[in-house]
Parts: sequence; C-alpha cells; structure tokens
Amino acid sequence: MKYISTRGTAPVLSFEDAMLTGLARDGGLYVPESVPTLTHDEIASFAALSYEEVAFKVMRPFIGEEFTDRELEACIRHAYASFGHAARAPLKQLASNHFLLELFHGPTLAFKDFAMQLIGHLFQTALEKRGQKVTIVGATSGDTGSAAIEAFRGLDNVDVFILFPDGRVSDVQRRQMTTPVEGNVHALALDGDFDDCQAKLKDMFNDFEFRDAVGLAGVNSINWARVLAQVVYYFTSAVALGAPHRKVSFTVPTGNFGDIFAGYIAKQMGLPIDKLVIATNQNDILHRTMETGAYTKAGVTPSISPSMDIQVSSNFERVLFDAYGREGAVVAGQMADLANGGFSISQGAMEFLREQFASGRASEEETMATIKATYEATGEVLCPHSAVGVKVAGEHLGNVPMITLATAHPAKFPAAVKDACGQDAALPGRMSDLFSREERVTKVPNDLTALETLIHNRTGR
Ligand SMILES: *Cc1c(COP(=O)(O)O)cnc(C)c1O
Repeated sequence: MKYISTRGTAPVLSFEDAMLTGLARDGGLYVPESVPTLTHDEIASFAALSYEEVAFKVMRPFIGEEFTDRELEACIRHAYASFGHAARAPLKQLASNHFLLELFHGPTLAFKDFAMQLIGHLFQTALEKRGQKVTIVGATSGDTGSAAIEAFRGLDNVDVFILFPDGRVSDVQRRQMTTPVEGNVHALALDGDFDDCQAKLKDMFNDFEFRDAVGLAGVNSINWARVLAQVVYYFTSAVALGAPHRKVSFTVPTGNFGDIFAGYIAKQMGLPIDKLVIATNQNDILHRTMETGAYTKAGVTPSISPSMDIQVSSNFERVLFDAYGREGAVVAGQMADLANGGFSISQGAMEFLREQFASGRASEEETMATIKATYEATGEVLCPHSAVGVKVAGEHLGNVPMITLATAHPAKFPAAVKDACGQDAALPGRMSDLFSREERVTKVPNDLTALETLIHNRTGR
C-alpha cells in the first residue's frame, strides 16, 4: 500500500515511512492511494471476534510488508492490554435508538489512547529493526499530549517532547504529562496559547535542517497511523448493533476532524453507515462550512469542551482532497488561501461533502443542559465533549440506530461536570494517586530558537 500527499508533490511513501514522518514535506497530509474494501461476509464475521482480532483484520490491508502478521498482532495485543474495560470500546444504550460508544477506558481516559497506544508499539517495532532513533514533538490542548507521553514513556528509541499552553490545561491533563518519571519524557509548558504551541511545532517541521538533525517525528492527529487505528471501533460498534445486515449512523464530537475522518474511511471500506454527523461546540468552523460552503477562520472562544476548541481543522484537508477528485494542486491552492483567512469550496465539492456528512453545533448552555438531562434520564455522566455529540445526535435520530462517540471520561473535566449535573466524577482507581505524584515540567518561552536549542541539548543530536 502506497501513501500520497493531499498536495500532490511530496514523495510517495510506504505505511511505515508515512507513519514515522507525520506531515508530508509539501505541507500536505498522507492518504492511502486507494482504500481497500471488506465484503459483507467478512464484516459479518467480525461479530464473533474480539476487539483485537477485528483491529487486525481492519488494519492489515493498509499496512505493508514492513510489519509481519506476528509483529502487527503483538503491537495490537500490547496496545489494548492496559485498557480498563475488557470490551475496550463498550456500547451503552441512552434511548430506544441512541447508543453511546465509550472510548475513554484507556490509560489517559480519552479516545486518543486507541491510536496513540498502538502507534507507540508500531514505532518501537519499526525503529528497533532500523536501528534508528526519533524525536517526537507534539503540541497539545491537553488530551493528545498525555496520550502520547503515556504511549512513548520509557521507549529506548524515542524522545518525546510535548508543548502545552502554560496554565490552560486541566489539572488532570497537566499531571498526566508531568508525573511520568522516565528520562525520555519532556513536558514543556509554553508561555502562550494552544495556537502558539501548534505554530512552533509547524515551524520546527519546516526547518528541514533541524527536522533531519533530530529525526523529528509527528504524532498529532494528522498522522495517518492514528486515523487508521480509529477506524476499528466504527466496525466493532456497528457490528454489535447488527451491521452489516442493517445500517447504523454515527455522531462524532469533532475538532481536528481525525476521528470522524476514520468513520468516513470505515464507510469507504464497506461498512453500511447511513449518516456521519459532525458535532461541533461554539467553535463551529466545520458546521458553518457545511451550511455556507465557505471555510473561514474565526478566533477561538474557549469552551468547556477544550479539546474541540480549534480554529482550523487539519484533517478536513483529507476529505477536501477527495471532494476535489484528488487534485493535489487544487487543495494546495485552497490551503494557500487559508493563510489569508479562508476559502470557498466549489459547488461540486460541496455536493460531495453534503452527501457524506451532516453537521450540528452545541452552545455552552446546550452542552451543560445535555449533561444534566442525560444524567437524569439514564444515570450516565457525560464529559462536555461527549455531551456536544449527544446534543447534536438528538437532531438526527430516526429509524437507524445512532451511535454517539463518548470521547473522554467525565473525570478529566470535573468542574464542568459538577456545574452541569451536581455529580463528582471520580478518577478510576488505577489512577487515584495522580495528585500525590511529583511533577516535572520545564517552562519555555514562545520562541523557536530557544525550543530548538533545548531539544538539541536534551537529545544530544
Ligand atoms: C481530540 C478530542 C476530540 C476531537 O477529535 P478530533 O479527532 O480532533 O476531531 C474530541 N473530544 C476529545 C475528548 C478529544 O480529546
């Protein structure tokens, strides 16, 4: 399987190289040259399989010869062994035709663990064979950084640096990043906001001399291997509700468009998905785009669902590439216009997008009211991100079963949850000592040279 860039001019890569690189050198994102499909019978056979077995069958066709079957099986087995639920991604019923897919039973309590735990093991396997080392640098608004640190801590061939906005992540998120004791983990509190962190990360990737010297690798949500790992739970949950014999719909709390893009891939692989609904909070660039056809930046307004507080949704570029008939030059042109504030999508491309996706938005008040109403009706305590999904899903219920993705555990956002429904969301027992562990963090200025110097010094490269 070959991977090509959405902007059409970066080298064509194998799965392993696309995974180790992250961002393409032309600024684009890697996508598979074609999407493999599964037959009706193959999908039906998943009903008798474990999460890990389905993961192997779904991902195997996307992964080249570089990983043997045994290696891939071992990576999958180790990735999900640390999850706190035997089903990995259990379903709960909220109403007669509405189900919640709990994706927060991993080690850092957000769905990011599904992909990050797996790529930690894939990276280690690939780098050991190559005798190579890499430096992972990531920017986070909270969940990605903790998931990355948890996945890469203690690995010999990897140093992991995470930039987070100083003072703007929750206490649980910060402590998940600052308490691991392993020497290859570097939590960096940047003097700025999340956009500053992301901008510095982009600058490092565009500094090719630095990029090559330290062996820079990216594991943010544009890494194709992360998208791929997320395709799996669309299959397991749909099959649990009767697919492929009947259709299901999904509503996905969306920020960078990685998670819902995985659903789009599942549909292309043959999973009978009726509706794929994009749910945004008040930072609703994607919902506005679906309504108006204009993708225009507006400032970010902080919300109680911070992991969805984004101005530009990176993975949207991947679906735009398909909407434009895979013309890399057109995508590159639109992305250049984005630097000046935005672009309008052609009528043909909009028709494609509206065929594939529905959308909706939840205000802060609606999100709070949904946490309260869901608790009162079902006893389920939602995190604010999942509540955005449940609210928007409510506008799209019908005869087809709706699955809303619950993307984080409520204990990651205890203040908002308490305000909304009066409940204290307790951390699961396996991390109850989080607040007594010692923190280790370096404060860094919002300055590229200072950051690059620190990384050179810490890695000795
Ligand atoms: C990352 C994240 C999201 C958004 O996912 P995308 O793949 O960026 O769209 C939603 N909820 C939570 C809790 C997250 O951590």
